[in-house]
Amino acid sequence: MTDIDKQINKQGRDIALKLQSLMALVEQDYNEHEPCLVCNEKFKHHIDKLPCNSDTERKQIVRRDRWGNTKEKNHGTS
Ligand SMILES: [Zn+2]
Repeated sequence: MTDIDKQINKQGRDIALKLQSLMALVEQDYNEHEPCLVCNEKFKHHIDKLPCNSDTERKQIVRRDRWGNTKEKNHGTS
């Protein structure tokens, strides 16, 4: 692979990730079950329910139950 090929691949991925973020904003209800291109978690599991912005900016993954509570938060709250 040439340096130019690598550069094109990098830019292509950057564009794909930007598109993913845009689509998630526009159609959040539809996209919440889509897997993130960066971390493979569904959009809805991200801290703000939107996919990671880039390979170097991963978001916190938060798993919520059907009532919207995180499992971590329920530890030791009695
Ligand atoms: Zn992600």
